[in-house]
Amino acid sequence: MAASPGAVALRVLDGKPVSDPRPGLSGLDLASLEAWLTARGEPAFRARQILDAVWGGSATSIADVTTLPRALATTLDEAFRWTTMVDETLVLADAGQTEKALHRLSDGYSIESVLMHYPARAGRKARHTLCISSQAGCAVGCPFCATGELGFTRDLETAEILDQVRSAVARLKAREDGAHLTNIVFMGMGEPLLNLDRVLESVEALNDPKRLGLGARHITVFTSGVVPGIRRLTALGPQFTLAISIHAARDALRDVLVPLNRRWPVAEVVAAARDHAVATGRRVSYEVTMIGGANDTDADADALANLLRGDLAHVNLIPMNPVAHTPWTASSMPVIEAFAARLQAVGIPVTIRRNRGQEIGAACGQLAAERAGEPAAPAVAWRRKRLEAASAKALLGERSEEPVPAGVD
Ligand code: SAH
Ligand code: SF4
Repeated sequence: MAASPGAVALRVLDGKPVSDPRPGLSGLDLASLEAWLTARGEPAFRARQILDAVWGGSATSIADVTTLPRALATTLDEAFRWTTMVDETLVLADAGQTEKALHRLSDGYSIESVLMHYPARAGRKARHTLCISSQAGCAVGCPFCATGELGFTRDLETAEILDQVRSAVARLKAREDGAHLTNIVFMGMGEPLLNLDRVLESVEALNDPKRLGLGARHITVFTSGVVPGIRRLTALGPQFTLAISIHAARDALRDVLVPLNRRWPVAEVVAAARDHAVATGRRVSYEVTMIGGANDTDADADALANLLRGDLAHVNLIPMNPVAHTPWTASSMPVIEAFAARLQAVGIPVTIRRNRGQEIGAACGQLAAERAGEPAAPAVAWRRKRLEAASAKALLGERSEEPVPAGVD
């Protein structure tokens, strides 16, 4: 992909990228920009001009913002970055309906976003949904997830979360069909509730009519089950749709598939999500990545049905995207349909979701994982063996003795 509008060059010292200490402009709200300007003797109304240029218009750098006096543009450029990332690669799939972008941060790490286009169909307008990352890597380490395989690198700054959105908005604007962003899902790389302050600041910017102006109903935040984070969100009131990556209702299996379960077991996660639904009046969405022979048995469906029966909940079943180095593949469609039927039989609404971008590995983190390089063959073989053994034990109901992943508390 050509560098995004206004992409910053990486700063290099002794051949290594170093992080740029200037905050990204998109992370600022009107009040803080006004305070920054007035402290420098500049009129407060410039803040509005700057935000308009950052979130709309066609400027690709601060120097491009023609409404600003040159001296102010120079001072702003010294203090802030127009964007925090270079858009490195854009890979298309599904006949152009899925666009996966790899963004390079100023310290050289890469993150991903995926833009999915859903054409209008009978009675439904076209949708353009962007999936964004909240961290570089992830500490949770789910073994079917490419990001989990990468491990944790660092939290994203607010502007780094938001600049993924600006990049997609710019691409949508360049189309001739008047397409605009309709939905944002925090289901890219990282565990959003382990970077909750920055995620909440980002959501505020996305909601803010002076910035992106996307309604809370159009934003979904995923979590693998960080119970204190869910409780904090409940206290704040409805901000967005909460989606819980549940994957298994039995602790033994969930310990293996979502290692965070060893810290917050599934019943605690569902209790927190249930309280959230009751307090906010908003239905919680539960995600199950359907993994052939691992979490798709009748017993798994019944355990999930018992756990969620009567709740204000909706279940999404998503076939697993293939990830190299894992022993698993997606469940077959008849198995997924049978699983759905057992949930529906007790009145739980279920949707079977189609996979997007399989051929480009649009499951979170795959492109970045590929870039990170191939692990050594013996390491892969050892890991597969360990997972197969853990998965088999879990299906017999034995809980994992492995510790909680580091960096999760
Ligand atoms: N960390 C958060 C959000 C990012 S992951 C979470 O886990 O909820 C977003 C979703 O992608 C999660 O539901 C996750 O389980 C799912 N996912 C990860 N790897 C996948 C794969 N290989 N195939 C299908 N879904 C996958
Ligand atoms: Fe992290 Fe979510 Fe991937 Fe698990 S599925 S490793 S929580 S990004």
